[in-house]
Amino acid sequence: MNIILLGPQGSGKGTQADLLVQKYGLNYVEMGKILRSIAESDNQHAKTVKEYLNKGDLVPDEFVRLIAWDHINKQDKEKGFLFDGYPRGLAQYDHLKDMLMKFGKKIDWVVYLYISPEESIRRLSARRTCEKCGEIFNLVTNPPKNPEVCDKCGGKLTQREDDQPEAIKRRLELFGERTKQILEKAKQEGVLLEIDGERAIDKIHEDIVDKLWIK
Ligand SMILES: [Zn+2]
Repeated sequence: MNIILLGPQGSGKGTQADLLVQKYGLNYVEMGKILRSIAESDNQHAKTVKEYLNKGDLVPDEFVRLIAWDHINKQDKEKGFLFDGYPRGLAQYDHLKDMLMKFGKKIDWVVYLYISPEESIRRLSARRTCEKCGEIFNLVTNPPKNPEVCDKCGGKLTQREDDQPEAIKRRLELFGERTKQILEKAKQEGVLLEIDGERAIDKIHEDIVDKLWIK
C-alpha cells in the first residue's frame, strides 16, 4: 500500500505518519528529513539543497525528483511507502505516480488531515522550543510543567520566529496553494481520503485505518 499523507502545519501529520508506518510496516519517506541529510552529506546536490533550505525556500522540482527517485529505488517496494512532505505540487505528484508505475505500483491513498487555519494558528502559536536542547513543547497539547522552563534540561523555552501568527499564516497560504491541485486530482482519481484532524490522536488514527480499506 502506498500512501501520501498531507496536512497543514500543526495538523499532527508526523504523529499519524509514525502510527501508520508502524501499523503497516511501510517505508517512511520523510522528505524534509531526507533533504536535510543530503544538505549535510557529500552528495553532488548537497550545496544547492542547503542553499534552498537555509533560505526557507522550496527545493525545486528537478532536484526533488532526482532525490525521490534515488531514495525510492533503494527501498523494498513490496513493503509500500508512506510519503510525508512530498509530493509538493501537481508536477511532483504526477512524477511520483510515473515512478511507481515503473515498479508496477500506484498511489493507493492520498490522506488529507485537515484542521482549520484558526486551529493551526492556535496550535502552532502554543509551541515552545528549548533554547538549550531543542526539545519542542506545546502549551496546549504537550505542556511543560513550567511554561518557561524545559522539563528535560532546565533550559529557557521560547517561541520561534516562524511560530508567530503572521509567519504561520504565510506558511499556511503556501501549503494551501501547492496542495490544492493535488487534492483535486486525487479526488478525481478516487483516492482522496479527507480526515478531520481536530480530534484526539488515537481517534484520528482509528478513523484513517477504518477508511483505508473502503474503496
Ligand atoms: Zn531543554
